[in-house]
Amino acid sequence: MKTLTARQMKALAEGLTEALNPREEDGEPTWDCEHDRSMTVRLLGDLGLTFEHIEAVLKELDDLGGHCDCEVMLNILCRQESQAWPP
Ligand SMILES: [Zn+2]
Repeated sequence: MKTLTARQMKALAEGLTEALNPREEDGEPTWDCEHDRSMTVRLLGDLGLTFEHIEAVLKELDDLGGHCDCEVMLNILCRQESQAWPP
């Protein structure tokens, strides 16, 4: 992502994973998503990002298809798997 560093993406992915609690129910993957990006915004605020920076991140997430917290989480985790994660 252009608007987040690898470290910020990792922190966001970890925070979202904790908040959304992904799990399997009856063999189907499920998680607690509110169908908005309130948790993403909160976590980015916790990371110390400015309002303008958060707006830029949300705009980039729009382009990447991350329209709610779970899509943001999956998007980042997919990137994490397909790329070598910086130590
Ligand atoms: Zn969702």
